[in-house]
Order: sequence, then structure tokens, then C-alpha cells
Amino acid sequence: MNLTYPQHAIETLKKNGFRITPTREKVIQTLDQSKVPLSPYDIVDHIAKGAGKIDTVTVYRVFDCLEKNGLIHRILNSGKFIKCSITHDADHSESDCCHHLAICDICGATREIHCHVPLEVEDLPDMTIIGHRLEFIGRCQACLKTNFLN
Ligand SMILES: [Zn+2]
Ligand SMILES: [Zn+2]
Ligand SMILES: [Zn+2]
Repeated sequence: MNLTYPQHAIETLKKNGFRITPTREKVIQTLDQSKVPLSPYDIVDHIAKGAGKIDTVTVYRVFDCLEKNGLIHRILNSGKFIKCSITHDADHSESDCCHHLAICDICGATREIHCHVPLEVEDLPDMTIIGHRLEFIGRCQACLKTNFLN
């Protein structure tokens, strides 16, 4: 059964022993509705528009909690966050792949990709690698087309 992002996020938090507060739910909904990465300030603005109230410190705490649970990803150069786009089904274990972002450096379009093979680094023979951070920067199809037309 496929879950929506908010359902998956709430299930994951519950499973890992976190309480579901109205604030956490609101931040999860806001991230779900956004196609572009958001900063904590963007979240505050967005919630204020819907006549809600939340402060930046609280959003930082919620982001921290969501990131620890693998539910959002931080874009290294902008410091903004985007929801994890993995397909959520009950049988899928998120821990068996790692998550990376690919970002268009013109329009900011962001895609998530997953790698399943542990990365081996020939230049680090005496280090046990436990993880890696990797971000891809490029040009999306739409931006490439526009560039050719100009
Ligand atoms: Zn992800
Ligand atoms: Zn683009
Ligand atoms: Zn990876």
C-alpha cells in the first residue's frame, strides 16, 4: 500500500518514538505541498499566510527531527530542505539505499536519486567508510532548451 508523504512521515516518527504535535504536522504538510526546497523562514512565511503562527527556532527543531528520521534532505549549498521523494510503500525499507540530490544551477529544479551500492574509494584504503555526502549540480532539460533558443 502506498502512503502519502505526510502519512509516511507521521508513521515513521511514531515508529521511532516521536510525538506527533500540531506543529510537526503543519511543517510536514508545508514541505509536502512545496515543489521547491524551503528554508525555515519560508516555512514561517507560508504558515503565516494560512493565518497560523510558528517561530523560526521551532521550525529549526522540527527540521532537525525530520532530518534525523530521513524524512527531509538538506541542500548543501543553499541550506534549504526538501522532502524525501522516495516511493513509500509498506514493504520498502528506506535504509537499504542512500539518498542524494541533483540540482539545476539555473532554475533550482531538484531531483532525488538513490544509490544502492556501497561506495568504495580506492584512495582511502585504510579508512572504513560508513557513509558519504554527495550532491550533483547540473542543468535541467527545461533550462538546456531555453539556452539553445536564446
Ligand atoms: Zn530521500
Ligand atoms: Zn533548470
Ligand atoms: Zn550514495
